[in-house]
Amino acid sequence: MEYVKHSPLFAPGFTIHFHDSTTRAPEPGLGHTFPSVNSEDTPLRSIRRALARRSLLRGGFAGAAALGGAALGAAPASATPRRTATRPTTAAAALRELAAGNQRWRAYRERHPDETPAVRQSLVSGQHPFAVVLGCIDSRVPPELVFDQGLGDLMTVRTAGEVLDEAVLGSVAYGVLELGIPLVVVLGHQSCGAVKAAVQADLSGEELPAHIQYLADQISPFIDRTKEGDARVDSTIDANIRAVHSRLAAEPDLAAKISAGELAVVGARYELNTQLVHRIA
Ligand SMILES: [Zn+2]
Repeated sequence: MEYVKHSPLFAPGFTIHFHDSTTRAPEPGLGHTFPSVNSEDTPLRSIRRALARRSLLRGGFAGAAALGGAALGAAPASATPRRTATRPTTAAAALRELAAGNQRWRAYRERHPDETPAVRQSLVSGQHPFAVVLGCIDSRVPPELVFDQGLGDLMTVRTAGEVLDEAVLGSVAYGVLELGIPLVVVLGHQSCGAVKAAVQADLSGEELPAHIQYLADQISPFIDRTKEGDARVDSTIDANIRAVHSRLAAEPDLAAKISAGELAVVGARYELNTQLVHRIA
């Protein structure tokens, strides 16, 4: 199969390019160009202003402080080990944690971390997730499972085809700006039905039902018309991930965080056949 040649997404020793997400070589055979991002479009700024910042912040960071305290420290050793002592605080560490979790998932050696009674109680007072994962709604790709993470570890946002809208942008912004999460992963996947529907609608010219057409409209600019059939769907999956990644990384508030070395936004893809997550942007 084509996919098994991919190297793991977050291989040990990888380098994060904080300032230039385009420096990674594209996968062979992908020659897409992407529409320029509209830098005047700054929905995150208005969303950020609209947030009741202080009240939200206090809840989150008070909980964050509690996470390092006695409640978790008292958790008994069990089959669901805690990682709180080594909870990632940087993008690089967060990527390593996700890579390790995906490796456990692939090897059927999940640890199901952070599910103990003590962890559940400690999370009553707040949360301090270390990564935002923007993924697809597909039932075969739940982020907590494919990265073997538990309660309080990931802030997940899921829409069909990882499509962005104001609510999604606001949700990602909340994680980054208000909770201080250092990593955003845009997680697409093999055989994405949303992308396939967009490609088929583009071919047929037929309108999709109700709000499903909205999803297709967001994906259609990235359809790879240089390919046919399943190859077109597969290539468009990658192009869509890259486009969502580019749009997020260009959001002014997030871009400022990236420039300051406080945030990384990466694009990744999950292969259903190998269960591997690998980085493509
Ligand atoms: Zn999908």
